[in-house]
Amino acid sequence: MSESCNGSCSSCPSAGNCSKIPPSTRQGVGRIIAVGSGKGGVGKSTVSALLASALNRAGYSVGVLDADVTGPSIPRLLGVDKAPYVQDNKIQMPASAKGVKVLSVNLLLRDEGSPVVWRGPLISGTIKQFWEDGAWNGLDFAIIDLPPGTADAPLTVMQTVRVDGMLAVTMPQGLSSMIVQKQIHLSEMMDVPLLGLIENMSYAVCPHCGEKWELFGSSHREEIEKSFGLKTLARIPVDRTLAELCDAGRIEDYENEELMQSLVNAAISVTPRA
Ligand code: ADP
Repeated sequence: MSESCNGSCSSCPSAGNCSKIPPSTRQGVGRIIAVGSGKGGVGKSTVSALLASALNRAGYSVGVLDADVTGPSIPRLLGVDKAPYVQDNKIQMPASAKGVKVLSVNLLLRDEGSPVVWRGPLISGTIKQFWEDGAWNGLDFAIIDLPPGTADAPLTVMQTVRVDGMLAVTMPQGLSSMIVQKQIHLSEMMDVPLLGLIENMSYAVCPHCGEKWELFGSSHREEIEKSFGLKTLARIPVDRTLAELCDAGRIEDYENEELMQSLVNAAISVTPRA
């Protein structure tokens, strides 16, 4: 590893000769997609769970790695509460009602409300163990719900997992679009191809007159599209039904054919990296 390592191997003179960062692996998974936002609360986990549900509905086998170790919400969104167990030296993952497999720290806690008060190395070690020891082999897709920020945990994911593409989730608010740019820069630094933008909570629809209302102000997606040469793949409205299904652990039942199809199209357009 060179003194000035920024985690990107392609421009490093020590590439291929470095003992510090082990090569990332794909664990026998067809395609691996990370979902990131930089900032918390914009709907990154919701988009991860919707993407997994859409692919599952389209007939693909899917597992979700909940790498948001200190704010894990994937089990709740997908209604999974059984603990993983070890068989054949691999961590076997419990599945949702429709068959999406899930690996998350929250499935190991006695009470899902207990805080995970861990320092960076333990969080990174957990993510690595979930990836290296999980029974991912043979799945068509692994979806990785990245933690917010651009520090230890997302770096660990990108150095451990051979991510084929990243979806960047943002909201119309200026603050979210500023922070999602950090996530986009990180994936460029780490040589992870960007699939496009998902703008969540883009607008709300008035239940009385049907008028669209920009609840969080005007969108900044066109600036991001221009700056990074990205496309917006989907815009998701603020939707009470979606929020209620999330709370009930039934996100798989969400009906929005256009959105689900856009997510499937983005995922199947990904080329697995060698
Ligand atoms: P993040 O992973 O970015 O921290 P979450 O996906 O956990 O964010 O979403 C935060 C909260 O917002 C959740 O309670 C979720 O149910 C809700 N939410 C996300 N997107 C929408 C939406 N489009 N409409 C309504 N509620 C949403």
